[in-house]
Amino acid sequence: MTKIAKVAVLTHLNRLFDYLLPQPAQPGVRVIAPFGRRKIVGVITDITENSQISTEKLKPIEKIIDQLPLFSPELIAFYQWQSHYYFFPMGEIFRYALPKKLNIEKPIQPQMNKMWQITEQGCDMLPKIRANALLQKKTLVTLKEQHDIEQDQLKHYEIELKTLKILQKKGYVRFYETPKSPVIISLTGEKKQLTDEQQNCVIAISTQLTKFSCTLLQGVTGSGKTEVYFSVIDQIVARKQQVLILVPEIGLTPQTVQRFKQRFGASVGVYHSNLNDTERYDTWVELFTGNLAILIGTRSAVFLPIPQLGLIIIDEEHDSSFKQQDRLRYSARDSAIKRAQLENIPIILGSATPSLESIHNAQQGRFQQLFLDKRANNANLPTVQLVDIRNQKLIEGFTQSTLKAIKIQLEDQQHVLVLINRRGFAPIFLCHHCGWVAKCNFCDANLTVHFSPLELQCHHCDARQSIPTHCPSCQKNDVGPFGHGTERCEEELKKQFPTTEIIRVDRDTIRKKQSMGNIVARMQQPKPIILVGTQLLAKGHDFATISLVVILNIDTGLFSADFRGTEKMAQLFLQTAGRAGRGKHPGTVLVQTHHPSHPLFNFLRQHDYKSAAKNLLTERREAGLPPFSFQALIRAESSKPEHAKQFLFELKKHIIHQAKHDGIELLGPVSALMEKRAGRYRANLLLQSKKRQLLLRLIANIHAKITKSNAKSVRCSIDIDPLDVV
Ligand code: ADP
Ligand code: ZN
Ligand code: ZN
Repeated sequence: MTKIAKVAVLTHLNRLFDYLLPQPAQPGVRVIAPFGRRKIVGVITDITENSQISTEKLKPIEKIIDQLPLFSPELIAFYQWQSHYYFFPMGEIFRYALPKKLNIEKPIQPQMNKMWQITEQGCDMLPKIRANALLQKKTLVTLKEQHDIEQDQLKHYEIELKTLKILQKKGYVRFYETPKSPVIISLTGEKKQLTDEQQNCVIAISTQLTKFSCTLLQGVTGSGKTEVYFSVIDQIVARKQQVLILVPEIGLTPQTVQRFKQRFGASVGVYHSNLNDTERYDTWVELFTGNLAILIGTRSAVFLPIPQLGLIIIDEEHDSSFKQQDRLRYSARDSAIKRAQLENIPIILGSATPSLESIHNAQQGRFQQLFLDKRANNANLPTVQLVDIRNQKLIEGFTQSTLKAIKIQLEDQQHVLVLINRRGFAPIFLCHHCGWVAKCNFCDANLTVHFSPLELQCHHCDARQSIPTHCPSCQKNDVGPFGHGTERCEEELKKQFPTTEIIRVDRDTIRKKQSMGNIVARMQQPKPIILVGTQLLAKGHDFATISLVVILNIDTGLFSADFRGTEKMAQLFLQTAGRAGRGKHPGTVLVQTHHPSHPLFNFLRQHDYKSAAKNLLTERREAGLPPFSFQALIRAESSKPEHAKQFLFELKKHIIHQAKHDGIELLGPVSALMEKRAGRYRANLLLQSKKRQLLLRLIANIHAKITKSNAKSVRCSIDIDPLDVV
């Protein structure tokens, strides 16, 4: 029978291609295949005996690059799931999974262990072997006891290769090869004595290490989730298995990598978007050949082949950077859970403030939920005080009492963190005479005033303009910045505390790989320091030295157009507050707000995320919103007004009957909240359903139309489980 290979060629084409397979090969190997007039690299995903196309018309694969598969059947099944679920071509997924240097004909050999094992026949024969064939008998006995023995270890067992070869001829033993296991880790760091809470979590997780299980580890800030991970990882690497740890953004949390390296030594690798092609390739190979036991990576690491994968950890699982917002719009968290299921291994999701989706999953019994309610090193959670700013005179955004509180801490040689979640100098530039506001020419958005460099910037399309000295509308020179951003706060703090070191942290100051590392180092200085910055400061840093956290503009989160606004606000609040009081000095959090009686604050003051989440979930349930329904967002954009919306209207017509029949809500099409962005007009059609499968089926029906639109003036995309629907 002719063998036919299904091949995912490394292009954006949304299908597999059939080729004749001229010689035996396994799924998961890369091949070179003729493709039109070109030759192209692809991966065999399946081998069958039939094709829709008659065999005479099929072309043969030109060359098989790898002798052994780079991708296991489970991993291929995982990519297939992603391809179906997120409506994305397999070939593109393989491009995420392979470093550029392997998108070409470059063979790669996994390092193999040579193994010996007793056969069934050998077991049967064992009692019958003549007494004078002592060596043979002894060899078989040892093999039976050990199950299998590596060829490198024969000496240790006093077995000779010669004897094995004789036994192999008789069919009593067999020889085989497996990919090399990861190197045994050199534990370098000290192991901390776990607290009782930590110990209980480790025990609960440890009972389920050999099969799929999903654990949600909800531990307050500073509760020592990392120590729990360490203990579980110890057990996994002791079995010579590998561990994948996904983190939001490596550049922002240099401490995490450092802590893992301190504890697990050289067998820890990192994988993120700042690596160059060579670094990426090297890490890929090290992981594949088992030289790395632990990989810490950002979201795209979820695609990597890890032959001995035994555990996945997602740290700060609530973080929105696990969702990719362009091209392949996948959630690395959800994908990782699916991968763990297919590979039948455990996965841990960790956070002080888990997403409502994950909490809901735990409540439905799909995840095991564990808690760490106390801080690990005897520190207490900080006290939270609300500062009512209604009718208060503000000094560049600060109340008198806030400034005074900062002063007291600085005099006490402490460190202070100020959160103002808006970069730049001021969010608005306006004319006080006629009310004109500087707007972007390409977006429906105001321009942000920046001080260094001195200019107006659009935070949505990166357009820049010089700052006008006169109002373009009324020609008066009564123009100026309005509102506050990080730069303006920094200015004011410098004015108020001229001798104090002030460190600003936002996307403008954190551009280079090392920058956050420098800040962590500067924070070690035993002198008063003020850190002022955006939500980048909330990202899991373990500064032992911050005694006061000031939160300035959190109110915007309470009244967001995004239904996830309050959830995000609660997370940002508790994560930022959680930076305070992690050391010996007790911590305080001051929150300036216009809405001190907002019910959410009642919970947040007590660091009671459990109750906050419960309340938010009730609201979601009543509104029928995720996680109590599933959403898919179809976005369209065009350089001409109305075209995008028109296209979505047409699309809606095609599915309206089916949607009604299936009970799927179609919301829209409507213009996006910011209709014009980077010169393109955008519209949304939101699909919402109680049943995920029906939703996916409906989209499958119009998928071809959506893909086709991309060739015309309207660009269209599908976002399954969108995080951002406005
Ligand atoms: P989380 O990630 O949960 O916010 P971390 O893992 O950063 O917490 O731990 C907070 C601090 O507590 C760290 O400085 C850590 O070294 C310390 N810590 C964690 N577990 C213990 C323990 N069992 N004994 C002493 N200190 C601990
Ligand atoms: Zn004016
Ligand atoms: Zn713009």
